[in-house]
Amino acid sequence: MTSIASPTIPIALTIAGSDSCGGAGMQADLRTFAVHRVHGTCAVTCITAQNTLGVTRVDALPPEAVVAQIDAVADDIGFDAVKTGMLLDRAIVAAVAEKARQAGWSKLVVDPVMVSRTGAQLIDDEAVATLKNHLLPLGAIATPNRYEAQILSGLAIETLDDMKAAAEKIHHHTRHAVLVKGGAMSGNCHGVDVWFDGDRLEVLQTTAVNTRHTHGTGCTLSAAITANLARGNDPLSAVKAAKQYVTEALHRGLNIGNGQGPVGQGD
Ligand code: PLP
Repeated sequence: MTSIASPTIPIALTIAGSDSCGGAGMQADLRTFAVHRVHGTCAVTCITAQNTLGVTRVDALPPEAVVAQIDAVADDIGFDAVKTGMLLDRAIVAAVAEKARQAGWSKLVVDPVMVSRTGAQLIDDEAVATLKNHLLPLGAIATPNRYEAQILSGLAIETLDDMKAAAEKIHHHTRHAVLVKGGAMSGNCHGVDVWFDGDRLEVLQTTAVNTRHTHGTGCTLSAAITANLARGNDPLSAVKAAKQYVTEALHRGLNIGNGQGPVGQGD
């Protein structure tokens, strides 16, 4: 997309938070890129102190520091695709959205990290509104989980039909592709994702993996989509391959720490 050198390897940028336990956030993204043979670059937005039991502290970086990291990579190396993860507060979301708008990133995956898979809100209301109105419409693919899709669509999501309705409503707002993820759904919808790009509505299924070691699932999925886009895949095949990759990673979940371990990546 903005590659300046002529790299022999695709390059991706993640704009995300740091996770000290190495399971989610930037660490998951960079590992996913590496497994996909994509060189990973990063702009850190915030630093979380956390382990498999929970988050004990979060420190945001100034928005200027986030933008400086993006510029440093863009001005010298360039990248073929970008993803955003945890952007934490309104100022960081607004700065990243402005950067995305100016640069016109065409292969932008927005993982609208707002609510954890357990339903806890991770960013404040102002940040949610800025993300919805300024960043989300710039992304080629948005990957909300069940709770994020509820906030973005204003619909309650209990069934597969609700997931489809939410995907259509979010697409109506963004005019771009949406993947509503079913990892936090129960029953038959557990692990079922719904894709809608304004043209095709697809229900993506895999056999649900029964594990508690799911930390980093959303980050890994959006990073794998980004890596596949950087490698030149079209959006829907990038998503399908990424879902396969995450299913494998769930099978390899790491039983580390005393709580919810991360998905396992690589060999
Ligand atoms: N980004 C950061 C820095 C996080 O700490 C977390 C969750 O702890 C997430 C993103 C979202 O993680 P997941 O991939 O499990 O949805």
